[in-house]
Amino acid sequence: MSPSSLAPRPVPSPPTSRHVAVIGAGAAGLAAARELRREGHRVVVFERSAAVGGTWIYTPATESDALGLDPLREVVHSSLYDSLRTNLPRECMGFLDYPFSSRRARAGGDHRRFPGHREVLCYLQDFAREFNLDGLVRFRTEVALVERDNDGRWQVNSRRSGVAGGDGSDENEFFDGVVVCNGHYTEPRIAEIPGMDAWPGKQMHSHNYRVPEPFLDQVVVIVGNSYSTVDISRDIARFAKEVHVSDRSRTDEPRRKQPGYDNMWLHSSIASTHKDGAVVFRDGCSIHVDVIIHCTGYKYHFPFLKTKNIVIVNDNRVGPLYKHIFPPFLAPSLAFIGIPWKVVPFTMFELQSKWVAGVLSGRIALPTKDEMLEDVKSWDLEVEAVGWPKRYTHNLSNIQCMRCLLQADALWETVSVVVSSLGNCFLVIAFRLV
Ligand SMILES: Cc1cc2nc3c(=O)[nH]c(=O)nc-3n(C[C@H](O)[C@H](O)[C@H](O)COP(=O)(O)OP(=O)(O)OC[C@H]3O[C@@H](n4cnc5c(N)ncnc54)[C@H](O)[C@@H]3O)c2cc1C
Repeated sequence: MSPSSLAPRPVPSPPTSRHVAVIGAGAAGLAAARELRREGHRVVVFERSAAVGGTWIYTPATESDALGLDPLREVVHSSLYDSLRTNLPRECMGFLDYPFSSRRARAGGDHRRFPGHREVLCYLQDFAREFNLDGLVRFRTEVALVERDNDGRWQVNSRRSGVAGGDGSDENEFFDGVVVCNGHYTEPRIAEIPGMDAWPGKQMHSHNYRVPEPFLDQVVVIVGNSYSTVDISRDIARFAKEVHVSDRSRTDEPRRKQPGYDNMWLHSSIASTHKDGAVVFRDGCSIHVDVIIHCTGYKYHFPFLKTKNIVIVNDNRVGPLYKHIFPPFLAPSLAFIGIPWKVVPFTMFELQSKWVAGVLSGRIALPTKDEMLEDVKSWDLEVEAVGWPKRYTHNLSNIQCMRCLLQADALWETVSVVVSSLGNCFLVIAFRLV
């Protein structure tokens, strides 16, 4: 990241109101809608479900393909399981000027530091109501195509369904800008395990895990080592006969009993699977297994976005994206909110949205295209230098001081949001704001 990209830039022409499409009414889309409107833009939010909240709308429904690989399956957006509580303390779950903690406590709600998912959904609904955002949202309206025309405007093709007045026909509209907020926890990534084609047991992805009861008396292998692995293994251990967690970051260490559990073990990665139902780990253990659950994360997926390969997803790197938001060749009229992970999401959405709104109005200037590309290149090199694979490009943990340093022209106020305890990471997000 070159220091020159952080230099103040002259404020360009007077602010302009743009016609902006926001795709998605989850936390990111709501934050974007509010900031865009505050900046004076005319906003339409497209939301394919019937309510605001995105991921936080829990549903017991699961997909017909438990691994989530069938492209023709009916997609269930949310990946929440019933027992989920936030992995951030409630003090970090709110937007900066609309705190999460105090509101719920005042309402006589749950005072635990890590609240359940229902409380997060209530918070987002309250937020939308408080700032009159519902009126900006077209519910049950799925965006099928986003494409730039020769005049630089964005064509948004959408389809409304399932409501009176919604005839299911397509609608084409044109916008000055598009802000993509479609989330990235819906399209499963699957672990490649030798011998899986012949292995007779059941496989699923954590996207389709909801409750532990169906695993009563079963022998379950959970592949992964992140938050969902920890939560789901503990959830299931209450019912299953045995739970075996396979963590590929353990190399050839022998298996280890999980403290506090008499039916849970931690293993290295899976070496092979066999048609008699056996799963063999690299630590040498061989176990007859009923179910393998892949807690192996998700893919960025923008099926509606056509950019003539200007923006591509390559091994979960979305790029090129300046500061994980602006594609240099299409900025500022196309922007992405919420791409980074291992972050403090709601705060980040809000700050990213303020920046996007200011840039779209012309109040804040971006660096030149070449400077932005140079910045993206240096970020990618930094990811490589710390030994991370490409798919960690948008993982903002652990890179000393997290550099989501937002460009700004006006006050050069630096806000530091210091967040302790996010897993084992200590994060400092430094944002330069207007
Ligand atoms: C299991 C799990 C646990 C998590 N735990 C935490 C936590 O503890 N704390 C935390 O801060 N974050 C957590 N997160 C991250 C969470 O995803 C973010 O907090 C945040 O909710 C993401 O918001 P979003 O708006 O980017 O995406 P989403 O909430 O996914 O919203 C995207 C919206 O876009 C809509 N959409 C998608 N495609 C289209 C289309 N083509 N047309 C129209 N609409 C479309 C969807 O219907 C959805 O409403 C967790 C995520 C998961 C999966």
